[in-house]
Amino acid sequence: MPVKTTVFGYPKIGPQRELKKVLESYWNGKISQAELMEASENLILNNAKTIAKHGIDIIPSNEFSFYDFILDLSLMFNVIPERFRKIENPLEKYFAIARGTADAPASEMTKWFNTNYHYIVPEIESNTEFEITENKPLKEYELLKSSLNFKTKPVITGPFTYLYCAKVADYAYFLDKITSVYRGLLKELEESGVEEVQFDEPAMVLDLDNKTMREVIDCYKKITKPFNKIKIYVQTYYEALSEYERMVYELPVHGIGFDFVDGKENLENISKFGFPKDKFLIAGVVSGRDPWRTDFKEILKLIEILTKFTEKIILSNSCPLIHLPVTIKNEHLPEELLKVLSFANERLEELAILKTVINEGKEPPLQDLSMKFVNLNVSEKVSQISQKTLQRKPEFAERYKKQMENLKLPLFPTTTIGSFPQTTELRKARADYKVGRISLEEYENFINNEIKKAIEIQEKIGLDVLVHGEFERTDMVEFFAEKLQGFAITKNGWVQSYGSRCVRPPIIYGDVWRDKPLILKETLYAQSLTKKPVKGILTGPVTILQWSYPRKDIPKEEIAYQIALALNEEVMELEKAGIKIIQIDEPAFREGMPLKKAKVNQYFDWAIKSFRIVTHSVKPETQIHTHMCYSDFNDIIEKIYEMDADVISIEASRSRGEILKAFEKFKYDRGIGIGVYDIHSPRVPQLEEMIEIVERSIKLIDISLFWINPDCGLKTRGWQETIASLKNMVMVALLFRESCRGTQCSKV
Ligand code: GLN
Ligand code: ZN
Repeated sequence: MPVKTTVFGYPKIGPQRELKKVLESYWNGKISQAELMEASENLILNNAKTIAKHGIDIIPSNEFSFYDFILDLSLMFNVIPERFRKIENPLEKYFAIARGTADAPASEMTKWFNTNYHYIVPEIESNTEFEITENKPLKEYELLKSSLNFKTKPVITGPFTYLYCAKVADYAYFLDKITSVYRGLLKELEESGVEEVQFDEPAMVLDLDNKTMREVIDCYKKITKPFNKIKIYVQTYYEALSEYERMVYELPVHGIGFDFVDGKENLENISKFGFPKDKFLIAGVVSGRDPWRTDFKEILKLIEILTKFTEKIILSNSCPLIHLPVTIKNEHLPEELLKVLSFANERLEELAILKTVINEGKEPPLQDLSMKFVNLNVSEKVSQISQKTLQRKPEFAERYKKQMENLKLPLFPTTTIGSFPQTTELRKARADYKVGRISLEEYENFINNEIKKAIEIQEKIGLDVLVHGEFERTDMVEFFAEKLQGFAITKNGWVQSYGSRCVRPPIIYGDVWRDKPLILKETLYAQSLTKKPVKGILTGPVTILQWSYPRKDIPKEEIAYQIALALNEEVMELEKAGIKIIQIDEPAFREGMPLKKAKVNQYFDWAIKSFRIVTHSVKPETQIHTHMCYSDFNDIIEKIYEMDADVISIEASRSRGEILKAFEKFKYDRGIGIGVYDIHSPRVPQLEEMIEIVERSIKLIDISLFWINPDCGLKTRGWQETIASLKNMVMVALLFRESCRGTQCSKV
């Protein structure tokens, strides 16, 4: 039987970030809703055309989203938080949930599995009734059919993964309840002539107990039972399917998809337990996550093994292509690097080639995938340092006391996370400098001027620990990747992070080392302008690694150690130059955690070690901060503690203080700043909201360790709302300072 090809999760943002541009124009009132709709239709059509043009057999639909595909489902199922219900215009309501409004805070946003894509958490309550308000997959299907005459395969997040994203506690109850809406969708799809549907179920790769497995299978039985025409595929990815034997034989579906790139165990399982004759096997063989060209020989070997178990194979990508930029065409990178790279469109080409080779029994095209960019010095240093225990001395309590005396900070010290608004003028200056319209000197003067303004503003607001504002950084990872050796930066390699926000992951292709200072100049300049302490802010090794595409020829931990050593050199230089607080941001610390429990400890071993490599050698008086945000930290709080930072600032407001639950169980007795307001939304937080968070927090955290800060950096905000919000925040700190004397606090 000849193999076919399909893909899913094709990048939604458009080859030139068209989606970002129209969304932001719409939010700024520059274009109408009708214009936004028209632009989105164009994107849907163009993306489908691109996929078809590359010769993919089964073209996906329902791939477009205005903000997030999980939020799309919430709206389709009428899962709408009470506070937004009064908004009549559906699209306005949609954006309000994602971004918040003046009187209603946005829903929580968190990371999608172990990736840097963020979704909007559905707010499902015990009394939530699911109801279909709109069949978005059907709409897109019909659009593609009427405009291009394509019969597509709608791709929809499956019921289990949707509920997992909603963090429901009682799966049995909700899986049962949600079947009716999924059935409703399928019924309409089938009646409209849709022949196949894909349910994405990455949650099926998690370690799940028997009871949940049973419930998931039952849910699928109920959903699929009434249908005999429409073919239903379940797609798993990011790891190997859990409970393989039971799932593949019992799930009542037409086909099951596997990730053969990040789920190596899938192949072992297939070899061990076989594969059911009545199902299709969707083989995810080209990576949706790493940019390295597919090794055809390796995949052909894999397919040969698979065909021993089944003839019914469909070739596909390993996981959604959203984690890759659109294309490597027009990238100006070294030839020896370009030849080993492959982004989304190149994945389509690879699939088409593989299909021809397999179906026509041809030899695969010759490939030269070798790459070697090594610096022996680096590996030598890494092997020396990674053997050490790297314990800071003296222990925390003693050094924190010293630090606080030295820094002369009040109770409830206030600070921000680092970045300040990146204005249009700043972006213009950067663009002007890049194309040579202004000189380096002019550009640096511009940045210095921004730093000066930021310091003045912070002093005026009355913050205690200042930052320089990160104006020189486009992005917290890209900036360091540009300065360090071993990274390549693309020109147009954008990947969606959340909503309209895109990042350009750097590519680690060689050994990493530091041949010049990274942030020394800007930090020292800021410190020269004020008597208050200015934090030196670096992105941590785990985050730099996690938000880059790592090379595949050495283990990840080794790359992390290389980055850590480079950062340690910078930390030591900052300290020597008189900087008293150094913050190592690790927002991706949780994200890097493996999805399978058996792999978790090994990850934390090297992740914690890398953080300690960066910080171990500073003086006791130097205060080390770290920052984390927008992930679930509750179950890893002990690991965070082991990083041994003096102060951590951590997101709490968007998740309504969920992190506090962790402190009920685990005594966190190091410095901690709980984020008191959400920075992803333009609304100015009210005093009461912030007071409430602080009040709840200080029931669990010693006030002498408590800091007050926003949830995250402020670069995506405007100055006006930033100043207003920070003034309120400082006011909250003052109120608490006043009400708390000694260790007792009276009511604020
Ligand atoms: N220091 C960075 C900033 O303020 C941290 C950003 C982040 O955590 N994502 O922008
Ligand atoms: Zn953050």
